[in-house]
Amino acid sequence: MFLREIAAPVSDLKGAGPALVARLFRLGVFSGADLLMLAPRDYEDRSAPRALAEFGQGPVNCRVRVVAHDWFGFGRMRTLKLWVEDEAGTRAALVCFNRAFLERSLPVGATLKLFGKFEYRFSELQSSAFDAEMVDGAVSGVPDGVRPVYPLTEGLGQASVRKLVSRALARWGTVDDEVPPSIRTRRGLLRKAVALKLLHAPEAPADAVAARRTLAYEELFYLQVMIARRSAVRRSEARPRTAPPDLLARALEERLPFELTADQKTAIAEIVSDMAGQWPMARLLQGDVGSGKTLVAFISAMYAIAGGGQAALMAPTELLARQHADTAARLLEPLGVRLAYLSGNVADAARRPLLAALSHGDVDLAIGTHALFSEDVVFSDLRLVVVDEQQRFGVLQRLAIGAKGRKPDTLMMTATPIPRTLALTAYGDLSVSTIRTMPAGRLPVITHLARNGNETKVYDFVRKELAAGRRAYFVYPLVDRSEKLALKDAEAMYGHLSGKVFPEFHGGLIHARLGENEKRATMAEFVSGRLSFLVATSVVEVGVDVPEATCMVIEHAERFGLAALHQLRGRVGRSSLQSYCFLVWSDGQVSGGQGAEGARLSEDAKRRVMAMKKTTDGFEIAEEDLRIRGPGEITGTTQAGALRLSFADPVRDVDLLEAARSDAMELLEADPGLTGQEGSIVRAVLERASPFSERTAATG
Ligand code: ADP
Ligand code: MG
Repeated sequence: MFLREIAAPVSDLKGAGPALVARLFRLGVFSGADLLMLAPRDYEDRSAPRALAEFGQGPVNCRVRVVAHDWFGFGRMRTLKLWVEDEAGTRAALVCFNRAFLERSLPVGATLKLFGKFEYRFSELQSSAFDAEMVDGAVSGVPDGVRPVYPLTEGLGQASVRKLVSRALARWGTVDDEVPPSIRTRRGLLRKAVALKLLHAPEAPADAVAARRTLAYEELFYLQVMIARRSAVRRSEARPRTAPPDLLARALEERLPFELTADQKTAIAEIVSDMAGQWPMARLLQGDVGSGKTLVAFISAMYAIAGGGQAALMAPTELLARQHADTAARLLEPLGVRLAYLSGNVADAARRPLLAALSHGDVDLAIGTHALFSEDVVFSDLRLVVVDEQQRFGVLQRLAIGAKGRKPDTLMMTATPIPRTLALTAYGDLSVSTIRTMPAGRLPVITHLARNGNETKVYDFVRKELAAGRRAYFVYPLVDRSEKLALKDAEAMYGHLSGKVFPEFHGGLIHARLGENEKRATMAEFVSGRLSFLVATSVVEVGVDVPEATCMVIEHAERFGLAALHQLRGRVGRSSLQSYCFLVWSDGQVSGGQGAEGARLSEDAKRRVMAMKKTTDGFEIAEEDLRIRGPGEITGTTQAGALRLSFADPVRDVDLLEAARSDAMELLEADPGLTGQEGSIVRAVLERASPFSERTAATG
């Protein structure tokens, strides 16, 4: 059996009651396979001893003797403090919050095995996060080895996850290998069952490293197999295509109040040449926020439509899809282009005739969310698919698009520059067009930093802009853990700004909890100018285009990632007017974390806002982002919808990535049908289940 076939729920395991199961579910762990694939986020090396005096070098790991019990606090807050002493005679205090029961189990005179981080507080060496076990009588001297540290969620303890994982290993741990044996040998990889065992129960730190390497290779190998197969399929789909006529595209260009930039023209030429090519296009269009990608998409669509086909434009949020539909209505309907808008919120009654029109060829351009690619949507002759802000979609979602229509051309658009290694990973066979220059007459956005408390100055500045007829955004963070709290923030600030700060102007409020119609109406009023300012959460982050907006105020800027800040700032500076971005940041929030973590957060937050102040160049920002976060974080967390790799990190593991890539290509070249001895293992794995889980696109 392959690991991914273990569909039995974790609740089958002894000791996995409903509460525990529910908490695991929050970690994305449902089946036995999920549990075995739960990657430890770290390891505690308890094989190396460390005395109390060496607490500065890492967690203390030694034997101590309990020398005294002490109490502090009153009533229910009464807390036990255990004084211990190690063999070198160093004394330290174990602060036992909510662990009064330790008074009995760790009596004075007992010898303990102690593990934990210590620090100097109130002039004593102490720890409140420690593990202590009694050493029973005789000296055992057996090292404790290396323990995995799992990601946790509220109410879930390390000990219960460890126990459950070890039961899962015993029950399901003998799985079949998924990487063909010759490749395993060549790359020095472990058997899968061994890798799993060493991942969760390593004897030495090196075991865990080797286990990860094997599992990472496997992930990358299957990713590369999928990419190689996709491009093989694409190349096998030779089709008769001729250069599409340019009459519609020309008509559109003539209607524009401005000239296309040279880079826009080049991108269009590259796209049109792909459209006339022998194989379906697979092209990535990169261009910084505000560089004018939408227009490139519309003009490309004009070619497809003039050639007698249909085009589809997919956006990650309704807000953005609506905006594109409105722009299209303005620019394209006068040319006779028949449009349709489709999202999950289009009611059935409206949806049915719309689907019929699509399938009869009565619609030329369909614009919408991923609902465009649900199963019941049939196009009569889909020739071009454009995916806007494609980094927001999952890889498989993107792959599914190719399945619609007869070999449509695909154009992926992104404002997030993709590092080469990532491009290799997830976009293996894409060609790339890049828009480097902004439309003529644009002025770089001027960015100011302001400390929380000085925001009145910011408001005064914005007031002048509003009085001059410009518009402004005010953005507040939406924090995962306390969404309600943060939403209240935006709401409360809306009340404050419209009631107290700008009573003479109309404002609107927009966030993800509002209904689509409400959001749409507010947005339309902001576009038309009836509303002068918009108070929002990060729903306005991607794509929103209101050229008259000249001020972007981001409060609690320290809460936003660099990529998000850059996207948000990209909402202004979209015309020849001078625009401003104000990053209001607060120290209090920054150092709200605990100890070292809080300090690090504040350092990173400072670097982020400084980077924003220093440059408006998206490529530079992306590089700085990579430096701040380190390669470890770039894949999973940066973008919702990024491919979920549990073990591999395409930046750190670039050597593995390249090995996997060449192995996958070699295998497929020698055995394209995957029917040989080794190939059929790969085919079996691919057939059993999708090797990757997907995150759905976040809708902000
Ligand atoms: P993005 O690349 O971020 O998606 P958009 O396509 O939203 O950018 O374009 C930003 C703004 O620039 C839009 O208002 C668009 O009409 C305008 N624009 C696009 N191309 C040009 C151009 N060549 N000259 C002037 N303005 C342009
Ligand atoms: Mg855009």
